[in-house]
Amino acid sequence: MKILLDETRIGHGIDELAAKLNKDYAGRSLTIVSIMTGSLIMLADLIRRLEMPVRISLIQASSYRGTTESGDLTIQDQMMLDISDRDVLLIDDIFDTGKTLVEVTKRLNSLGPKSIKTAVFLNKSGTSQVDATPDYVVFHIPNAFVVGYGLDYQDLYRNLPFVAVLEESDIAQHSVL
Ligand code: 5GP
Ligand code: MG
Repeated sequence: MKILLDETRIGHGIDELAAKLNKDYAGRSLTIVSIMTGSLIMLADLIRRLEMPVRISLIQASSYRGTTESGDLTIQDQMMLDISDRDVLLIDDIFDTGKTLVEVTKRLNSLGPKSIKTAVFLNKSGTSQVDATPDYVVFHIPNAFVVGYGLDYQDLYRNLPFVAVLEESDIAQHSVL
């Protein structure tokens, strides 16, 4: 596994994002809608650095079904808070094709928020298939399959405190886990 972003760098990146949000949303309260499970670690690290009143709402959206190929998107929102007339920040782990963020944003917009912006931990370069870009990006990365800091391969590796590129040898080893 090749480490792309270590723990220290990630910490600084989250610090910077929190500083921007504290400035942009000063004097307002923020409803964060976080896409599980990939954004779990970023969410926990980010919200402890936020100074405005924050409400947390979790949804699940999955397109990667245990492989590295993109599949159909399903959204589960039973745990959604009421977001009507709220300032909403939608958080996801990674912007790849962009389809997840666009679809979920569409769904949230139908619920009548006051405003909606998007923040992602990682933005892959050259893979977008949509017209939109995230409003906040912590790190831009090259087009490789990465794991760690919330991101999984077949539901493993989310707990790694760093971000690493998953290599062929890792996948081979993985089959015996
Ligand atoms: P998109 O809809 O933008 O193509 O994909 C977003 C979702 O795909 C992410 O929330 C994430 O679950 C998954 N994904 C995309 N690229 C990667 C990657 O490099 N590593 C991992 N672990 N998941 C990825
Ligand atoms: Mg995901």
